[in-house]
This record gives sequence, structure tokens and C-alpha cells, in this order.
Amino acid sequence: MSQRAVAPNDLEAFWMPFTANRQFKSNPRMFVGAEGMHYLTSDGRKVLDGTAGLWCCNAGHKRPRIVEAIQKQAEELDYAPAFQMGHPKAFELAARLAAMLPKPLDHVFFTNSGSESVDTALKIALAYQRAIGQGTRTRLIGRERGYHGVGFGGISVGGIVANRRTFGTMLTGVDHIRHTHDLERNAFTRGEPEHGEEFADDLIRVIQLHDPSTIAAVIVEPVAGSTGVLVPPKGYLKRLREICDQHGILLIFDEVITGFGRLGTPFATDYFEVVPDLVTTAKGLTSGVVPMGAVFCASAIYEAFMNGPENMIELFHGYTYSAHPLACAAALGTLDTYEEEGLLTRAAELAGYWEDAVHSMRDCPNVIDVRNLGLIGAIELEPIAGEPTKRAFAAFLEAYERNVLIRTTGDIIALSPPLIIEKSDIDVLFDTLRGVLKSIP
Ligand code: PMP
Repeated sequence: MSQRAVAPNDLEAFWMPFTANRQFKSNPRMFVGAEGMHYLTSDGRKVLDGTAGLWCCNAGHKRPRIVEAIQKQAEELDYAPAFQMGHPKAFELAARLAAMLPKPLDHVFFTNSGSESVDTALKIALAYQRAIGQGTRTRLIGRERGYHGVGFGGISVGGIVANRRTFGTMLTGVDHIRHTHDLERNAFTRGEPEHGEEFADDLIRVIQLHDPSTIAAVIVEPVAGSTGVLVPPKGYLKRLREICDQHGILLIFDEVITGFGRLGTPFATDYFEVVPDLVTTAKGLTSGVVPMGAVFCASAIYEAFMNGPENMIELFHGYTYSAHPLACAAALGTLDTYEEEGLLTRAAELAGYWEDAVHSMRDCPNVIDVRNLGLIGAIELEPIAGEPTKRAFAAFLEAYERNVLIRTTGDIIALSPPLIIEKSDIDVLFDTLRGVLKSIP
């Protein structure tokens, strides 16, 4: 039965995030249910989820283990103070997570989102440098076209111009290295691009400019997601690690998107065989069901804080909802689901089929690049002159009409389905998208 979930008069109060509010409110798109690979719309349609919500519902929707875990937890212990008190699931979860990451990343700090994970990691990096007597290292380095959430730390190290210039003053002492996107040499590459390892050397330029003794940490997304799926060139991340090691600089991987199976390995650190000092996560940690983030840190970092008097708080940082019982339960249910269904390596099994499907879009109208890695894909469209983002947004609206959810950023279509996706869903996704691209101007 077709029905609107919200009366037109009730649309006004909610100021929607990262949304063209006026456009939306003139033609609202509402989800009222979800199961497996699909959303259910308020007008009764099943929409194929091509984006795992916002890169987060890695286990798909309404998964029984997760639903049951939350229900049970709500009845047992709804909330416990996060400071100076604990509850068993927080420790169980941290231990399970620590065991999933390569050594020495064996301590976990809980947050409620990717943005909070990023700001937490940046703060830990700064505090660590002070703790080891390197207090001159106050500078943070991000990368152009990086997205690290919307906290002041995250937008400062982030490289999205619109996110920064809207708000005026940012954190001081931040610089950016160049991004790795090189359409001229790498367009239509399957997987990791051949060219561009040397882009990592831009860090040397920044180090020489500021002096290494002033730099605390470098933060990058292993695969930049929100700015359009920029896959790092072969060897790039290893080179970044080497440069950081040479200069005593911490390396932070923002794995909010790449964490929890997106590349066919549990984390991008496994995929690229590069181990950073800190890893930020969120999204797939609870399959998006309850907000939660986690920062993984190397044992040497944790230990550097543990040498004061025993009854002293070691790190002045934390959130009322750090390790919230419902979030911990959701995460444990999610990890069970991932394990039982082999989801953290499923992207590797599907990667070849996915890659062929993404690259089959190459011949569609206005396509200037196609990119992929694991179960991520991007189709870059030629912008309409003078009207950037218009073409991709038209594709988004048309795909929604045709019962497929995609995500767009600028003139790039980004795809990141739940890891439970079947080949038949992949066929539907790209057949629909082909029709969409042929239908829009
Ligand atoms: N870092 C990265 C790499 C992200 O992709 C995102 C969200 N897309 C964030 C941080 C911010 O996460 P959140 O929206 O949960 O704050």
C-alpha cells in the first residue's frame, strides 16, 4: 500500500545533515524498513542497497544476531557510567577486536562515530608525543581530498574545501600532502593504480618545510572513500610508512570505511600489509545499527601513558557513551555475524565479479573513469559545464526511482554494497545503473 510516512507540514523542523534540504523537502525520499540487501520505501517499494547505507551496513539489514543482542542488552543493562566503571561486554569486545588487528595494534578506545574516532586519534597522537618528551611535535598532516568526519580536528586535517571554508578558522599547525588521484595516467585502472607511488614523497616536502621535530602525525584513508574512491597507487602506503618511520612521525589510518571487510580482508592494514600506529574505525563495527567507533592503538602508545601513579587518570579524554552497552552488544552481534558468515573475506571472493561489473560501465555515456577495490566501486562522470554535481545527482535521483540506492560525491557515483551481496544483486545494480546513465542528459 502506498502511503507517505510524514505529513508535508512535519518536514520542516528537521535540519538534515549533508542534504539539500529544500530539494529534499519538495520531494522527500523516506525509508520505513530494511531487510537483507533492501530498503523498503514509504511508498511501498523495495530498494536495492548499493551503498550499505552510508558505507556502514556491512552485514546487511535486520540481521538476527545483531537485533537479538541489542534487545537482550536493553533488558539487562541499559547504560553504565563510562568513566571509572566498566561492564563486561566492553572488555569482551575490546579483546575480540584487538585480536583481529595485527600486532602491535592491541589497545582499543571506544567512541560513538567516525568523527569522534578521528578526533580521538589525533588527540592521542599529540598527547603521546608529549608523553615521550617530544612536545615540540604539535603539527598534524592530512591529505588533499581526505575525509575524516566533521569534528574540528577532522575537518582541519580533511581535504575537502567546502567542509573547511564554510567555518573559517580551523586547527592551526595543520598541513596537507597531495592526493593520489591521477586521471591522466591511471584512468580505468582495475584495482590499485600502477602510477603514483612517488606521491608519498610529498610528505618529504612538508617535513622539510616544517622540520620533522614539529610533526606529530600523518592521517590518511587507505582508500579515500567519501571524496570518490581514490585507490592508492601500488607501493604508496608502504612508502608513507617508511617516511614516517624515518622521521619519528606517527601514521594514522582512517579505516572508517575500509575497516570490517570492505576490501576482502578484515582491515586495510591487512590488505596493504602496512601497519600504522593508530587506526580509526566506526560504521562496520556495528554494521551501522547502533552508533559506535573505535580507535586502535599500538601497545607502545598505550604503555607511554601507563607509568604515572596508579590512581591517576592517564588520558583526559572520553565520551559519556564510550563503550555504551547497547553499542557493545550490537558490535558483538555484528562480529558473530561476520564470523559465522565469513563476511570479512567475502569481498575477496566477489572482487573479480564486482570488478568486471564496475568496469562494464566504462562505455556508458559521460563516463570518464571507473575505479574499484574489494567491494568498492566508483564511476566518475564528466561534469556538465558550469553545473558541477548536477549530472551525478540526477543519476542518484533516477536510480532511486528505479529502486536502487547509490551515493554520489561531486560527479562521482560511489558504490559499496553490504558484504552479503549476491552476484544476482550485482547484476541488478549495474543493469539498473546502465539504464540510468543512458537516460540522463
Ligand atoms: N572518516 C572517514 C574515512 C569516513 O568515511 C567518515 C564517514 N563517511 C568519517 C570519518 C566520519 O564518520 P561519522 O560520520 O561516523 O562521524
